[in-house]
Amino acid sequence: MKTTASKDQLTMTTPELSLIVPCMNEEQNIQEFYDRTEAVLSKLGLSYEILFVDDGSTDNTVDKMEKLAEINDSIRVLEFSRNFGKEAALSAGLDHASGQAVIMIDSDLQHPPEFIEELVAAWKDGGEVVYGVRKDRDDDGFLRRSFTVTFYWLLSKMGEVPVPSNAGDYRLLDRAAVDALCNLGERNRFMKGLYAWVGFRTVALPFAVETRKHGKSSFSLARLFNFALDGLTSFSNIPLRVSGYAGFIVAGIALVYGGIELINALLFERTTPGFASLIVAILFLGGVQMMFLGVIGEYLGRVYTEVKQRPVYLLRDRQNT
Ligand code: UDP
Ligand code: MG
Repeated sequence: MKTTASKDQLTMTTPELSLIVPCMNEEQNIQEFYDRTEAVLSKLGLSYEILFVDDGSTDNTVDKMEKLAEINDSIRVLEFSRNFGKEAALSAGLDHASGQAVIMIDSDLQHPPEFIEELVAAWKDGGEVVYGVRKDRDDDGFLRRSFTVTFYWLLSKMGEVPVPSNAGDYRLLDRAAVDALCNLGERNRFMKGLYAWVGFRTVALPFAVETRKHGKSSFSLARLFNFALDGLTSFSNIPLRVSGYAGFIVAGIALVYGGIELINALLFERTTPGFASLIVAILFLGGVQMMFLGVIGEYLGRVYTEVKQRPVYLLRDRQNT
């Protein structure tokens, strides 16, 4: 009897839908975001909760969130102690979401809230991971676009699981997928790779990305580059292996060349004139060694971050979380 009661209680308090909304300095977007999202959610008629994750904003974002939480009981605010990055914000949201399905959506209105209807419909049709595919990336500059294309090409060639290239961060996850993601212990959270890694029945739905309403994107090219490096090294050991092969080949060539020179010198008394080839060889090998030391260092750094076991994010103490 007791278990049934608590189960009932659980279903009563568990919303069908949780929305995770990472925000960093979005004070100008939050109100409009909420208005549009709330309209869609009440139209759907599902029970829901909205989790605003403040990722160390330096403007009035938190105040705006808390004002909304006062007028709507379904809103919860998670406040980070500093900026931990969007991936950490999404992880925090996943840890605290209780819904049967979880939707991750940007607060800058690039992800149209109206698309939630389609995400939910696909979920009801049996999709466990439903992700939005950007119809176009016109918003991004040429450099950024080519960078993204190259990154996903590399990832598809080297990674252990195929990561869909056109998938944005706008997606719905069923409770089963959320639990699986929360159980992954790694600190370095390249979310797009992790979604692909956990698997589940996946559905792709196209949506048109809107332009940012206010403020500007916080992902500079340098930040994007670091992000890409994280992604590649978390999902592939091939760079490490390549260094081994390359070292083997270069050393092999050097041995063969040394042998030829030795025979030339001993049997035919021919010696190599000039230093040029010598210098080139030294520089080349030095370069190759440094490069691959870098690769090893990259993975070592990764192991270091994992063994430190630091939390992915820290919350400021709040009552409504
Ligand atoms: N964001 C965040 N932490 C960060 C950077 C961004 O929570 O360190 C949020 C931001 O408020 C927005 C979403 O992540 O809701 C996407 O960020 P942005 O628009 O800057 O990235 P882009 O759309 O260019 O990928
Ligand atoms: Mg954006």
